Amino acid sequence: MYDERFRANMIVKEWMEKSNGNWPEGWISKFPSLLNLQKVSLDVQAKDVIKWRKKDGSLCNFSVNQTYRELISDEDDVEWWKVVWFSQNIPKYAFIVWLAVQNKLTTQDKIKQWGSYDVMCCALCRKDSDAHSHLFFECEYSKEFWGKVLEKMGVFGSTYKWNDIVAEMSRKFNRNSIKCIIRRLCFAASVYLVWQERNNRIFRDEIRSTEELFKVLIDIVRMRLLSLKVKRSNVVIRAQERWNVKLYIADTHERVFGKFVSLNNSRSLQWLEPCSLEFSSVRVPFLPLGRLDGLRRI
Ligand SMILES: [Zn+2]
Repeated sequence: MYDERFRANMIVKEWMEKSNGNWPEGWISKFPSLLNLQKVSLDVQAKDVIKWRKKDGSLCNFSVNQTYRELISDEDDVEWWKVVWFSQNIPKYAFIVWLAVQNKLTTQDKIKQWGSYDVMCCALCRKDSDAHSHLFFECEYSKEFWGKVLEKMGVFGSTYKWNDIVAEMSRKFNRNSIKCIIRRLCFAASVYLVWQERNNRIFRDEIRSTEELFKVLIDIVRMRLLSLKVKRSNVVIRAQERWNVKLYIADTHERVFGKFVSLNNSRSLQWLEPCSLEFSSVRVPFLPLGRLDGLRRI
């Protein structure tokens, strides 16, 4: 533009008037393909508008929505997305699982790569350094915990290798049946709880046994199931029995209220086992998922 004495802020109309619609000679010698372009014809009466050229070459008005779709259209869906992103999942669990499946959690093998040479070992078993493959679920501690979860889910003969677990969850349990949802929820809660346990031990010096961690997981899944609306089926009935919880079945509006009681009108809730039902019922329409840790079993 400088060589042709064009101003940087020159508009197309000015260029047309100056060059009579012909490309500068210097440009053609540098870029011969300019000769193949159609000659520009301007409607001097029309107003200038900004158009967005799509990948297929057509013009449209600019919109963020359209641009976003253009940008993502070449990306293939990852196989594991349904394991992470499903509406019944708990957002903070989904976030940790999303990081974990991409090996993005700040595990000790990563910290070592940054140049720290402190002696590090897994906070759960004290035997190996923690990496994703170790924490989920080859570590002695997490293996025992994940074994209990698998048994509760009714999944047998499963692997304990992280990549294989993610692949198995993605392929076998990606449907929207109650069974698949519960299994994906268990998986998400397990990853979250193991990561939380690892951090609690390192930063707070707090330790829970695998049995205690498993009880927390059971409460989490039960609580989440209570907030779901499902259709009656044999699978739903079996899920109710397996998890000892009464689901909200859409066709009958059948639901047990009163399993949770408020303590002194505070926001924390107590869980009551069905065998100890001696309390006035309190309806809990939606579960305070962010406060699950505040639940106490009595
Ligand atoms: Zn370990």
